[in-house]
Amino acid sequence: MLPDLQRLIQLQDIESRAAVASKAIADAPGRIAALDALLQSATAALADAKQSFEHNKTARRSIDKDLLADQQRLEKYQEQVMAVKTNEQLHAMQHQMKAVEAEIGQREEKVLINMMEADEINAAIKRAEAALTAAQARMASEKAAIETETTAHQATVAECAESRRTLVAAMDNQGAVDTFQRIAKVRGTAVARAEGERCTVCQVRLRPAVFAAVRKNDQIVQCDSCNRILFFVPPKPANTASA
Ligand SMILES: [Zn+2]
Repeated sequence: MLPDLQRLIQLQDIESRAAVASKAIADAPGRIAALDALLQSATAALADAKQSFEHNKTARRSIDKDLLADQQRLEKYQEQVMAVKTNEQLHAMQHQMKAVEAEIGQREEKVLINMMEADEINAAIKRAEAALTAAQARMASEKAAIETETTAHQATVAECAESRRTLVAAMDNQGAVDTFQRIAKVRGTAVARAEGERCTVCQVRLRPAVFAAVRKNDQIVQCDSCNRILFFVPPKPANTASA
């Protein structure tokens, strides 16, 4: 194979590895931000649940206070009823006592509802605490993993840059590097394998003379359709003793 063609195939491999590593580096802050958002929402959910618990306690104190006042009023009426002189006064007093008793009943109902709400809120707090613990654990393990990966990807990018420099310096035909870079800029990849008279990347059929030239692997031949630099991998012989 033409040494430059071999080098361009290697160059494509280097560029592809560098691109994968660069994309991973670029994606890392977004992945950490997503973990951070998860942690923040879990923290906010727990704070909300705890605030609901405080509201529930405040409401309960208010109901208890009203209930106590009603009970004291009722006791006062019960003392006063002993001292009434007339039937008229007795009826009026009984009427007032009934009203207070009804109010007490309603407040006791409210206490029950408040207690059920408190149970639900306590369960919600437990769930929110578990979710927060899970989010914290994810943040701790995944953030460290992302950071470790990023360091490795940065090393890959640096290594690829070094390999690229060495490879490009060794090229006999610097013009081929320019061609490579021009195609890579437009197409993403600059080399393509030819097989069965086709470019395996754009799938367009090659002219017989073009494919014949590509099969020799001894010159830079570009695909008529996508412009990629073509190379040919000869099929492996079915039976061979040599490696
Ligand atoms: Zn092509």
